[in-house]
Amino acid sequence: MSDVLVVAELTEDGSLRGATFNAITFAQKALPGLGGTFAILVLGANAKARAQDLTGFGAAKVIACEDPSLAQYTAEHFAPTVAEVGKAYKLVVATATSYGKDLLPRVAARLDAAYAGDCSGVTSEDGNLVFQRPMYAGNAFGFCRLTTRIQVATARQSEFTAAEPSGGSSPIESVTKVAPGRAAERVQVVGLDAVKSERPELTEAKIVVSGGRAVKEKFFEVLEPLADALGAAIGASRAAVDAGYAPGDYQVGQTGKIVAPALYFAIGISGAIQHIAGMKGSKTIVAINKDAEAPIFQLADYGLVADLFQAVPELVAALKQRR
Ligand SMILES: Cc1cc2nc3c(=O)[nH]c(=O)nc-3n(C[C@H](O)[C@H](O)[C@H](O)COP(=O)(O)OP(=O)(O)OC[C@H]3O[C@@H](n4cnc5c(N)ncnc54)[C@H](O)[C@@H]3O)c2cc1C
Repeated sequence: MSDVLVVAELTEDGSLRGATFNAITFAQKALPGLGGTFAILVLGANAKARAQDLTGFGAAKVIACEDPSLAQYTAEHFAPTVAEVGKAYKLVVATATSYGKDLLPRVAARLDAAYAGDCSGVTSEDGNLVFQRPMYAGNAFGFCRLTTRIQVATARQSEFTAAEPSGGSSPIESVTKVAPGRAAERVQVVGLDAVKSERPELTEAKIVVSGGRAVKEKFFEVLEPLADALGAAIGASRAAVDAGYAPGDYQVGQTGKIVAPALYFAIGISGAIQHIAGMKGSKTIVAINKDAEAPIFQLADYGLVADLFQAVPELVAALKQRR
């Protein structure tokens, strides 16, 4: 029997979401404290095909729950199956994406299990898992142990590198969807109004170009050419979102999305701790700000003290020339 169950995540079009691989790394880091193996559970309308994509990551098995009614995610429909499968494990994990943060607390409740959300680390002490969790926007860490027989946890994506295939071929097992309870009767998906974009998804992108309050109404006019030149996703500070310059799902930070791209541009962003909480895991950070004292420069690998309305078009022109 395996000890850790990783709950995989699919995108709306049924592909594997990259966050699944960060959850695998989280599971692998928890294993020394449990001394066993891990399994992966994938749910969806095409779960068997996706399970096939997950056989090379060293799992003891990959469990597929394929059912047409799982084409669209709702916690009420997914949680009963995850909880039923999860009963056989000591630890159930996923990445703390919107999906993981929505699904796993419900799973924990069904399993009567304690839950540690948004963990940035996991170690073991005297045979017990110790979960590290960021507090006060990442300015302090809390360490907790879960004392229930089954433990449930989500991992902060930016703190765990995506697992790479390690060879081997895990066996695939099928399970039947568990009939959802009465809660599911109250929930009906009537449609999905997803934002269609040619750009990479913010949390999956290798490069993110983010703008702050200073970019004002020219948010897209200024940032899109740079994002286009770099093949980047666009992000925003909360101030830019609150002012209506960018949509809410662009927000990076404590109350927005957590990103950890290879390259992050903070343009006209001061560097408030709540913003930094969402992007400090980025490998290389570039800041453009006209205030040399802006806190973002303390974090940035490269800083340019300049007026963004001049610097960004010049950067775009230079990038185009290099092509
Ligand atoms: C509970 C809570 C949760 C929060 N969650 C988040 C969150 O998730 N994400 C988030 O981002 N914030 C969050 N905030 C808000 C956060 O505290 C800051 O208010 C916000 O990040 C500031 O956004 P900003 O840097 O765009 O704006 P400002 O702080 O106004 O900074 C604008 C910057 O632009 C520079 N600038 C001005 N003009 C130019 C120019 N022409 N060229 C170059 N630079 C220029 C200025 O020097 C300044 O540094 C949260 C706050 C609270 C209390």
